[in-house]
Amino acid sequence: MGKREVDDRFKKFGTVSFTSITKTNDFVSQLEQGRIMGTKCTKCGLQFFPPRADCYQCLSSDMEWFEVSGTGKLMAFSKLKYGPVGFEEDLPYCIAVVDYDGFKVFGRIDKEIEDHEIKIGMKMKTVANTLPNDQLNYVFQKA
Ligand SMILES: [Zn+2]
Repeated sequence: MGKREVDDRFKKFGTVSFTSITKTNDFVSQLEQGRIMGTKCTKCGLQFFPPRADCYQCLSSDMEWFEVSGTGKLMAFSKLKYGPVGFEEDLPYCIAVVDYDGFKVFGRIDKEIEDHEIKIGMKMKTVANTLPNDQLNYVFQKA
């Protein structure tokens, strides 16, 4: 793939894209391949999700990618009945935080999961998802 003048791959992420130009654009290319990626500082080992290009702990910019794989534990969730501008069509949906022991992933719970099935501490996996408008995101599913 050739160098683009403006690397705006992040436009493809999320219902409404907020950040179109970042140093971590490979995240979106990986997501297109079904992989959810974070970054890990090669100096101190701290893991970041969403991916960061710079480590706030040791200030290194020496990062490597890792895949968010396996399962995490549901730490918190909240059902949204009202959303910000641009998200109206998606409502209602559940936002959640899943703890992967080393890093945490903030995202949405798959709409296929019924409310009564959602329990704090349950095991979940993070999977790539294509939205109706062809944008990409990821959702949590039961592991
Ligand atoms: Zn570091």
